[in-house]
Amino acid sequence: MRVAVVGGGINGLCTAWALVRGGHEAVVLDAAPIPNTEGTSYDEHRLTRIPYGSQAGYTRMMPGSFAAWDMLWRDLGAVHYARTGCLALCTSEGDWTGRSAETLDRFGILWERLESGALADRFPMLQTGDARFGLYMAEGGVLFADRIVDALTAWLAAHGVELRGGTRIAELRPDVPAAVTETGEQIRADAMVIAAGAWAEQLFPGLQGHCTTLRQVVAYVEPPPALAAAWQSAPVMLDLGGPRGMYLAPPVRGRGMKIGCGALNRPCGLAENAAAQPEDGLALLGVYRGRLARWEEFRVRRLRMCRYANQEAQRFVLRRSGAAWALTGCSGHGFKFGPLMGLGLAAVASGGIADDAAARWAAGDLPDMQVPGLDMPHAAAPLAAE
Ligand SMILES: Cc1cc2nc3c(=O)[nH]c(=O)nc-3n(C[C@H](O)[C@H](O)[C@H](O)COP(=O)(O)OP(=O)(O)OC[C@H]3O[C@@H](n4cnc5c(N)ncnc54)[C@H](O)[C@@H]3O)c2cc1C
Repeated sequence: MRVAVVGGGINGLCTAWALVRGGHEAVVLDAAPIPNTEGTSYDEHRLTRIPYGSQAGYTRMMPGSFAAWDMLWRDLGAVHYARTGCLALCTSEGDWTGRSAETLDRFGILWERLESGALADRFPMLQTGDARFGLYMAEGGVLFADRIVDALTAWLAAHGVELRGGTRIAELRPDVPAAVTETGEQIRADAMVIAAGAWAEQLFPGLQGHCTTLRQVVAYVEPPPALAAAWQSAPVMLDLGGPRGMYLAPPVRGRGMKIGCGALNRPCGLAENAAAQPEDGLALLGVYRGRLARWEEFRVRRLRMCRYANQEAQRFVLRRSGAAWALTGCSGHGFKFGPLMGLGLAAVASGGIADDAAARWAAGDLPDMQVPGLDMPHAAAPLAAE
């Protein structure tokens, strides 16, 4: 069958990849050029990790997520992932790290508990005196998002997928089915998948009211020379105490070191000019005072602004209307599920999974659902800390 995919971010590209693997034909339509180098899916890195707070469903979907990435690496012939390990700090009882530890324990997933002495020895680049414990896992790390999007685009083009950048869809006609461009052209297909990120609800009435659009600015920073080597071998870090949603990516494989903080996000209209400003960088660096050793020696080198669709419970929302299926939500953590969601979206659009099951699975409520086309070598691999 022929499927029109609206949106060439990670979810749309991975849906097209999964459709090709399933023997289907795909056309990807994006208002921006493909790859969309200004888009939410395009940055030096996105983090992946197994700890997921009290979100048991997404915790349990992580082996499938890693298995789907492995399938993608095999197809692309390259691994755009650095397995740095992952560290989170518990600084108050019942915080995100504490809840993650409980969820991991509940499912028998091994992790390493680091008491204050071990934290100080292993992570001299941090100030950890206030931490109750550290949660460390060897799995998890950095997905090189821009390289992944570029490589996927090239793979799809080489496999006969029509990539139509500069094609803004103004209306969906699920009854035809067809996607109608802003110039009035009808692009017909047997089914449509809408993976238009924060913009999806403009196109798909069934998604309205599920999400708000948030603006997040991240800062690329230069660590102090004395700690540069330590940072190069550091794990990805999250929930670092202080304001909610602190996370950072270490400067691995020649990429920059990046810091972010969800607590600094703000709602942002899609038409609003929300470019990053120098004060965003200062606010962000300020949040890390008292956490980064030699904090005053850090320099902000570059800022990047992105928008994402924030769903209150931090879940994906998947809805159907006629022959169109639309995905949005998942807030600031959706990239890591790209290939897995792509397999699921391709399966539901081609009739391989029932709508209700697919929607519950995407929302994290049916984590053990068999996803058609997913090879699960990771099922046998222990999720143990090393
Ligand atoms: C600062 C930041 C940090 C993040 N960190 C992480 C992280 O560490 N780990 C993680 O897993 N996730 C992270 N995320 C979330 C992740 O990046 C997103 O969930 C993911 O990239 C969304 O991908 P998508 O394909 O759904 O949407 P997008 O990448 O937004 O792609 C949607 C595409 O649809 C196109 N489009 C929109 N409207 C139309 C239209 N009418 N017609 C045609 N095309 C249209 C757009 O041009 C765009 O290219 C982060 C997000 C941000 C902003």
